[in-house]
Amino acid sequence: MKDDLAGQATLVTGAGRGIGAAIAREVARQGSDVALVDLGSYDEAAVVAAELRALGRRTVAIRADVSDFVAAEGAVQEAVGALGRLDGLVCNAGITRDGVSWKLTEAAWDAVLDVNLKGCFAFCRAAAPVFRAQKRGRIVTIASINGMRGKFGQSNYAASKAGVIGLTKALARELGPSGVNVNCVAPGFIRTEMTAKLPAEVVQRAVEESALGRLGETDEVAAVVSFLLSDRARYVTGEIIKVDGGQYI
Ligand code: NAP
Repeated sequence: MKDDLAGQATLVTGAGRGIGAAIAREVARQGSDVALVDLGSYDEAAVVAAELRALGRRTVAIRADVSDFVAAEGAVQEAVGALGRLDGLVCNAGITRDGVSWKLTEAAWDAVLDVNLKGCFAFCRAAAPVFRAQKRGRIVTIASINGMRGKFGQSNYAASKAGVIGLTKALARELGPSGVNVNCVAPGFIRTEMTAKLPAEVVQRAVEESALGRLGETDEVAAVVSFLLSDRARYVTGEIIKVDGGQYI
């Protein structure tokens, strides 16, 4: 369906590449203006922003570290200032620092929890006053099926994504009375730079696990996120939707 998000404004974190860039493109295709937040891939986010501006959308690229509360508040304010409103938030930025738990460093633990869980909370916290004041808002968090089933070598990542799922449910309860829906998309193995660095046998195992017999594409995650941001999902909240080609079953 087209124009589901016409006249709206959406902030996407980690929007410079991968799933975040696909979400930015899809919500723009559905009519939304977009604020694209990124840190190391800020330049790429600015390129995507220019591409979407050429389609007639208002866009702004913002450099921010999602795990910094002050930066998150600044980014939300900058988005509202540039786009004139904020209707949707997609907490997508995430990293991996894999290793078996008995060798995992404190730095690898902290980095993943900081970006994936604290970063998600920082943006939800920053956007909550805007959404509560207007009595409407949509938040979509991005977890992972590995936060639901665990994964060898990913104790930090799985813990962070399980945390995102708990956070989503708590926020759905807190913000629901203010007309704010909070849902989570849990992707399986999606072809992006994050997964490109994994060994071939890990990729092959994901293909074999998938009921559909293939990896996922970024636009297949973006389509579900866009649906959750739209009014078609207005009675859905606190929900975790797997987009994994049946890898989890
Ligand atoms: P990706 O290609 O590595 O993109 C992640 C984006 O987040 C990058 O642009 C990255 O920029 C940005 N980012 C990282 N740390 C940040 C920070 N502190 N502040 C702001 N931006 C930051 O990853 P992806 O595969 O698209 O994954 C997107 C989300 O989906 C993540 O939450 C990931 O955990 C989740 N996910 C992915 C898969 C998959 O198979 N790909 C599966 C399940 C869940 P820089 O690193 O350049 O700063």
